[in-house]
Amino acid sequence: MTSDFQSDNGGGELGSASHPWRVAVFGAGPAGFYAVDELLKRPGVAVDLFDRLPTPYGLVRGGVAPDHQKIKAVIKQYEKTAARPGFRFFGNVTFGEDLSLDEVLAHYRQVLFTTGAESDRRMGIPGEDLPGSHPATIFVGWYNGHPDYRDLHFDLDAECAAVVGNGNVAMDVTRILARSVDELAKTDIADYALEALRHSRIKEIYLLGRRGPAQAAFTNPEIRELTELAGADLVVRPEELELDEVNRDFLALHAAEQTHQRNVDILKAQLPKGEGNQPKKIRARFFVSPVEVLGKGRVEGLRLEKNRLLKEEHGVFKAQGTGVYEEIPCQLLFRSIGYKGHRLPGVPFDERNGIIPNRDGRVIDPATGAPVPRLYVAGWIKRGPSGVIGTNKADASATVQAMLEDAARHTAGDGLSPDPDAIPALLAHKQVRAVTFPDWKRIDQIEIAAGKKRGKPREKLTTIAELLAAVS
Ligand code: NAP
Repeated sequence: MTSDFQSDNGGGELGSASHPWRVAVFGAGPAGFYAVDELLKRPGVAVDLFDRLPTPYGLVRGGVAPDHQKIKAVIKQYEKTAARPGFRFFGNVTFGEDLSLDEVLAHYRQVLFTTGAESDRRMGIPGEDLPGSHPATIFVGWYNGHPDYRDLHFDLDAECAAVVGNGNVAMDVTRILARSVDELAKTDIADYALEALRHSRIKEIYLLGRRGPAQAAFTNPEIRELTELAGADLVVRPEELELDEVNRDFLALHAAEQTHQRNVDILKAQLPKGEGNQPKKIRARFFVSPVEVLGKGRVEGLRLEKNRLLKEEHGVFKAQGTGVYEEIPCQLLFRSIGYKGHRLPGVPFDERNGIIPNRDGRVIDPATGAPVPRLYVAGWIKRGPSGVIGTNKADASATVQAMLEDAARHTAGDGLSPDPDAIPALLAHKQVRAVTFPDWKRIDQIEIAAGKKRGKPREKLTTIAELLAAVS
């Protein structure tokens, strides 16, 4: 370690202006930005934040529903982070393709992965891959103008759709299908998605929970929103809201988390409204598991098995099939049963849980359990896809704490290239057009100006070519 480094972590500086402690962060979503903020609070630290897309903010841009603009206000905090001395953004740079792990380790003391959970979990039932059956993740990416998904086609000629899962992503997908075009037109929904939804013929949306209303993963504001839509009724079945002894036991055990009882109350308040009189119906069904996607050549329906709630040991409450089946019609199916992380080249991966194996944010070798020096994780790729955006703040902070402890112990490598121009030069040599933060601000202005003309908060540029053209 050079004499410029004073790795005392007791409030002193890790590096100096001439030799900053250089950290690379891959994934410019919430976890990445929170980690960068924590790191840059330390004097003498410089952080390069990379993203495979030309745009920053991860799920805040590509995941948060367009009709939830308030949630996106968190971007203001990330802009403050980006304004801190020592920050650089490199968009349009893919880890493992544009920069290998060895190259990154040669230029940075520590490397943090905050790449999230980009793929979906599968139901594992016959017919799952029939045309018309999709993971919710790609539909979310499509309506949010994510370049990977913007060219997809969803059959909105269907009259009946089904959404499997009872999490907040299922809420988002159901709401976007149920909302009127007038409501969506005021959001930053992608223009092509608005146009496709304008011609949507969907009248019924089944929302399918394998367990009951008390166990649902959605939160109170999200389910309440479905009861307040301008053009759709949330329809429930009285027999599925009746709570048996096991369900009452569940609620008693979870009494401290009021969300569960409130979810039940919100749903029960729908009972007197019956079918309602809005043109679209959201049919919330509980205690049903899809066991087969039906259809010849494309999705025509779903075979469901009725479940009951079973209490297992250690307070685990599971759905148990009863051997009673029913069929529902649907021509469009979204499975919204959780996300999974992607394997990164050269980095250990836990295939089963879809995360990078780690202990408190330190990447570990799954075979030995030993920490892999200088590699760290935060966010969904560290703990799995759970929690809201803010959850990633504490998560990232804990990982940064581990990074600083290791830095103090001088465990980060010597003999690195401290030249800040080395990485931009390497990317230029590889003909990678890295998008800087000032570049992104230009894209941002272009999108906001285009949105203004249409009465929207922004009109997103949705192809890599358009995004790069805007900054060249
Ligand atoms: P989630 O909250 O984990 O919900 C997954 C749902 O899928 C659960 O209802 C689960 O049921 C169900 N499920 C899992 N496997 C299933 C199977 N084989 N068959 C049928 N159902 C199955 O996941 P998510 O909705 O993808 O959300 C991810 C995270 O992002 C969550 O923390 C969520 O709160 C957050 N988020 C927040 C917002 C917001 O704040 N507005 C919006 C979107 C996402 P069981 O409970 O029975 O396992």
